Amino acid sequence: MKNMKKVLAFDIDQTLNVAKTPITDDIANLLVECLNHFEVCPISGQKFDQFLIQIVDRLPNPTPEQLSHLHLFVAQGTQYYRYNTTNSTWEQVYNYPLTDEQVQKITTTIEQAARELGFWEADKLLPGDEIIENRLSQVTFSALGQKAGTKEKYAWDPDCKKREKIVARCKELAPEFEYEIGGTTSINAITPGMNKVFGMTHLLEELNVKKEDILYFGDMTQPGGNDYPVVEMGIDTITVRNHEDTGYALKGILGVIK
Ligand SMILES: [Mg+2]
Repeated sequence: MKNMKKVLAFDIDQTLNVAKTPITDDIANLLVECLNHFEVCPISGQKFDQFLIQIVDRLPNPTPEQLSHLHLFVAQGTQYYRYNTTNSTWEQVYNYPLTDEQVQKITTTIEQAARELGFWEADKLLPGDEIIENRLSQVTFSALGQKAGTKEKYAWDPDCKKREKIVARCKELAPEFEYEIGGTTSINAITPGMNKVFGMTHLLEELNVKKEDILYFGDMTQPGGNDYPVVEMGIDTITVRNHEDTGYALKGILGVIK
C-alpha cells in the first residue's frame, strides 16, 4: 500500500491501558497483530519493568520475530530497549539518566510546591508507597503514590487544575526543569528537551525512519500535555480518550491491511 506508515507509536497511560494497569486482552491481541505489519513503539514516562508488566507479559504467545518489531521507549524515550532474538532477552540500547543533583533539586521543588498548595497527600499513601519517584531519566510526582486505586486517582484531578497549579509553582522555584502533566495524578519533571521529542527523535534514528513514517497515539495531545511535544514535531497523531478508542482505530488500520 502506498503512503503506508511503518511505525505505530503509542503513549501508554490512558492510550493503551487504564493508567498503570496491564493492557486488556483486546489491546494485547491487536498489538500482536500490529507486530506482523509495523514497528510498534510504546513510549511513556514509566519504568522498564512496568513496560513488561503492562504490555510485554500480556501479549499472547508472541514469536521472537514479532518481539523483534517491538521497541520499548522507556522514561519518555530517554532509555531504549529492544529484543535480542539470539539470547531471548531485552537489551538496553541507550540510557540518558539525570544526575543525582538534578534528582535532588527536582524532588525538593515538587514537594515544596505541593505542600504550599495543600496537595501533598502523604497521609493517603499505602504502606511502602512513595509520592515522588526517581525514574533515572525523569522524576515523577504521583499525587496519591503508585499503588493507589484507579478510582481514587481519577477523582483526584480530573480537570488537571491541581497539577497545573503545582507546575506553575515548580516553574517559579526551579525554572531550569520542564514539568509535564501525564497519567491521572502525575507530573513528570525532566531536563529541557528530555521529553517525548527526545524519545521520538531517537526513535527516528534507531529505526532509520522518517517522521512521515510514524503514526502516534496519545491522550494528552493538548498544549501542556505530555503527548503535545510529538504533535509539535509534526508527527501524525491520533488523539484518543482511552484504550477503547485506540482499539477501535487499530481495528480500522488492521482491517485496511487485510
Ligand atoms: Mg497518557
